[in-house]
Amino acid sequence: MQYYSTNNHSYFVNFRTAILEGLAKDKGLFLPEKINTLSKDFIGNLQNYSFQEISFNIAKYFVGDEIEEADLLTIINKAISFEAPVKVLSDNLSILELFHGPTLAFKDFGARFLAGTMEYFLKNESKEITILVATSGDTGSAVANGFLNIDGINVVVLFPEGKISKIQEKQITTLGNNITAIEIEGTFDDCQRLVKSAFMDDELKLHINLSSANSINIGRLIPQTFYYFESFKQIENILKDKNIIYSVPSGNLGNLTAGLFAKKMGLPINKFIAANNNNDVFTDYIDNGIFKPKPSKETLSNAMDVGNPSNFVRIVDVFNNNHSKIKDVIYSKSYSDSETVEKINELYEKFGYIIDPHGAVGCLALDTYQNYETTESIGVVLETAHPAKFGDIFQKHLDITPDIPERLALSLSKEGNAVKLSGTYDEFKKYLLS
Ligand SMILES: *Cc1c(COP(=O)(O)O)cnc(C)c1O
Repeated sequence: MQYYSTNNHSYFVNFRTAILEGLAKDKGLFLPEKINTLSKDFIGNLQNYSFQEISFNIAKYFVGDEIEEADLLTIINKAISFEAPVKVLSDNLSILELFHGPTLAFKDFGARFLAGTMEYFLKNESKEITILVATSGDTGSAVANGFLNIDGINVVVLFPEGKISKIQEKQITTLGNNITAIEIEGTFDDCQRLVKSAFMDDELKLHINLSSANSINIGRLIPQTFYYFESFKQIENILKDKNIIYSVPSGNLGNLTAGLFAKKMGLPINKFIAANNNNDVFTDYIDNGIFKPKPSKETLSNAMDVGNPSNFVRIVDVFNNNHSKIKDVIYSKSYSDSETVEKINELYEKFGYIIDPHGAVGCLALDTYQNYETTESIGVVLETAHPAKFGDIFQKHLDITPDIPERLALSLSKEGNAVKLSGTYDEFKKYLLS
């Protein structure tokens, strides 16, 4: 499979280059040259495939012959080593739990697959790679965990001081070894700006081989298509002639983009919902066709506090910049923190189910959509993180206490370690070169 840059549709690279470079040389994002429908035999018989087998078949499509089948199978089995179960709460509401990985957020899927493929491609090379990643919470922990102890790869994680949950901070700062955590005085957007500046700094790149593991790396998005198929498999038999809608709590729009890939590959999804918190840049775009990045605002669903979503250019590109076509497929709405808290309470009272603040925003948007749509539908809300990751929010705003899974308790018991920087590019660059 060849990948083109969103900035130049005749600039192609292979899968290996797309993965290792992350961002195209012309600063565009990579997209697969084509996304075709997978065979009917596969899509019509998902029941016969395990989650790993589904993942392998989809990965093979995106990778082509650049990784030996046996090696790809090994990468998949190692990366996709946990389930993505669907919990059916009612006739029209199901929750796709994407938090069963080591860091309790969906980003484990992308980070672990990316780590496996990068390790494969760097196996016989002498050069070291430094992965720079800006995080609004979950990316940092997933990437750090996915790449921990991989030879030849250093990971530098930038997070905004005081703006991620204590648990997220612990998950990033307690790993050590080839993982460095940097605490930036500023917001997530400041972190992302520093990373972008580094990527555009040709002088810096003479000294360090930089790569990215943010959702600008296509290797993060590919594995996120796997669980759309896996979840469809689990509810196919209760679907009957209802529509199926996926509600995606959205920040940088990576998860949504992966869903669009899945639809292009033939999964019969009727509609996507991009659920936003008060950071409503994408909702505005869907409503009026104008994309206007804004500074990010702090909310309770902090992994979605993104003012300039990086995958926006991919979505627009996939639809040939046709706003009305995008609107046919994607609905979007934004919600406040108080609505989020109310929704968490409501789901707990109705179903005894504890949803995290991000998933709650997804449920809110699904509700609104289902209320005005007359066609009956089953809504699948992507539960993007485990509620225990946001224990401080539950403590402050709710009378519900999520249980802490053991894998999380372990990192909480360790002492964290982070480098503090002010957020100017000069200082950051000096640090990288030191
Ligand atoms: C990253 C993240 C999101 C946003 O996902 P995007 O792919 O960036 O849109 C939503 N919820 C949680 C818990 C996340 O970690």
